[in-house]
Amino acid sequence: MTEHGGAGGDRGQVRVRFAPSPSGDLHVGNIRTAIYDWAFARATGGTFVLRIEDTDATRVKPEYVASAQDTLRWLGLDWDEGPGAGGPFGPYQQSQRLGIYAEWVARFLAEGHAYHCYCTTDELEARRQAARKAGGPSGYDGHCRTLTAGQVAAYQAAGRRPVVRFRMPEGSTTFTDLVRGEITFDHAHVPDFVLARADGGPLYTLAVAVDDVLMEITHVVRGEDLLSSTPRQIAVYLAMGVAADRIPVFAHLPYVLGPNGQRLSKRNGVVSINWYREQGFLPEALCNYLALLGWSPGGNRESFTLAEMAAEFDLARVNKNPAQFDARKLESINGDKIRALEPADFAARITPFLAGAGLVAELPAPADAELIAAAAPLIQPRISKLTDAVEMLGFLFVSEAEFAIDPEAAASALTPASAQVLAAAEKALTGLDQWTEGDIDGALRTALLDELGLKPKAAFVPVRVAVTGRRVSPPLFDSIELLGRDKTLRRLAQALAVASAPA
Ligand code: GLU
Repeated sequence: MTEHGGAGGDRGQVRVRFAPSPSGDLHVGNIRTAIYDWAFARATGGTFVLRIEDTDATRVKPEYVASAQDTLRWLGLDWDEGPGAGGPFGPYQQSQRLGIYAEWVARFLAEGHAYHCYCTTDELEARRQAARKAGGPSGYDGHCRTLTAGQVAAYQAAGRRPVVRFRMPEGSTTFTDLVRGEITFDHAHVPDFVLARADGGPLYTLAVAVDDVLMEITHVVRGEDLLSSTPRQIAVYLAMGVAADRIPVFAHLPYVLGPNGQRLSKRNGVVSINWYREQGFLPEALCNYLALLGWSPGGNRESFTLAEMAAEFDLARVNKNPAQFDARKLESINGDKIRALEPADFAARITPFLAGAGLVAELPAPADAELIAAAAPLIQPRISKLTDAVEMLGFLFVSEAEFAIDPEAAASALTPASAQVLAAAEKALTGLDQWTEGDIDGALRTALLDELGLKPKAAFVPVRVAVTGRRVSPPLFDSIELLGRDKTLRRLAQALAVASAPA
């Protein structure tokens, strides 16, 4: 039995890597891992390495190599070594390291740690079925471990091209996982595995282990789905000649479950970080919320920044039970983070969403920028996603030709009974000297509450629907002030026409 790991011991500088495979958008689970990797490096004064694991050509989509980096940058998870940052152990993209893996394969073959396997997929499958029927282990059965020169010659003559398999030593592997504690794998359940395909292409287990060693990684902090590959990786490290006490320390993070208690996946709730970004979630909120899926700082504080996490993160506090992803909690944290923004920052963050909806130019005209700055504080306390700004402020930026009242709001609020309300509001505002929130407030209250004797709801809902087009809007009198006299009076007149039209 070999024992590895421990609390980290005297390992000098921490070096921890985040190693995504660019087969799609980074998702909630990946990013929770990346946050912990980053925070562990920052909290220990170590180095955070980004490595792109793109050797599986059948799964990799090249556009996701750049998109993964963009997502990490947007979240504020800066890496010290990796694509774009350089570093002494590059290249940091596995597709650019194929020669290195080939050298190690050759060495493993020469030293007897690996062997050529000529079994075809059909043969493997047939033997697997038979083993299963007999109730035995159904992993690779070691068929090609001890081929004679004659057998090899026969396979070659038949045109078979071999894969390279690792010769898993007998015994067991025990290591101390910083989250899960001591774990032992009996090698009886760890069959010889493929290191390289027939075309020489390296497999994950080879590339990940070779790179962890060559990049001098001290800690592997990653998702629990990779726990079962750990004994294989440790065996490869040892075959590379790494001393048992220099093998990286592992920390396997608990699963993230979806609302139904199943592992979070595309089929089971939205997982792509870019989707959340497009929906107007702040990077601060995603980092805070995703960090809470398995960790919280002292005193069980639920609200913190990445900088605070960098100071306080501790793997010993990571929970080993699965965490449940709760989109409503994420949205509530997002609302808190939105309210905490400096007003100018908030205005800057909603601008791209207004531009995306075609309401303002990407670089807004000065008048629009001024209007955004004036309107932003009205909605900052009231929205939970930046995209809400589009619905809430759209009425201020649409042209009059495009202004439309939400049909449901029109049906419920612009009834014949509201005609006198709208007429009185129009009249009261027409005569107003000063167009300020206070004057508008006074004039409408006098005309609608005092003179017509209406309740506030009956008075103000039709006016709100008339000028903003919706039943939900920023505070009404501020909205009217920002909209301006001309547009307000025109919209009241239009709404009056709708309300008075015969059904
Ligand atoms: N590239 C692997 C993945 O995205 C992670 C490898 C690792 O962390 O060991 O699933």
